[in-house]
Amino acid sequence: MASSEKDAALAAVPSDGPTIFDKIIKKEIPATVVYEDDKALAFRDINPQASTHILIIPKVKDGLTGLSKAEERHVEILGYLLYVAKLVAKQEGLDDGFRTVINDGPNGCQSVYHLHIHLLGGRQMNWPPG
Ligand code: AMP
Repeated sequence: MASSEKDAALAAVPSDGPTIFDKIIKKEIPATVVYEDDKALAFRDINPQASTHILIIPKVKDGLTGLSKAEERHVEILGYLLYVAKLVAKQEGLDDGFRTVINDGPNGCQSVYHLHIHLLGGRQMNWPPG
């Protein structure tokens, strides 16, 4: 991860307030949307870390700033977002595999406090992640 991304994550203030993703949901700022339905939105990351790098988010945050804030009421949407990740991976032709990532909190390098799944593919991933 580039240090600027780490700096952005460490500077981010965890909050349940609106984020840049709300503006993307409301189409107030542009994004390259690759999938949309009534519950989920998927768009290309503005700072891609692989040839395919897509973010999958719930359209309604409902307190789900990050995975650590998940409650039982979020079980359905969490499962659904993973299913959308699979649909988008198929749509993107990631037939040789892909990676999904959920960063949580400062140690997880989370910079946007609206839960999102990163879908990364199109290159060989390494393990362990940085
Ligand atoms: P995280 O660090 O896990 O919170 O991921 C947030 C991601 O949002 C980063 O990978 C950013 O590059 C991405 N991002 C921030 N703003 C935008 C934007 N306007 N459009 C697309 N992706 C964005």
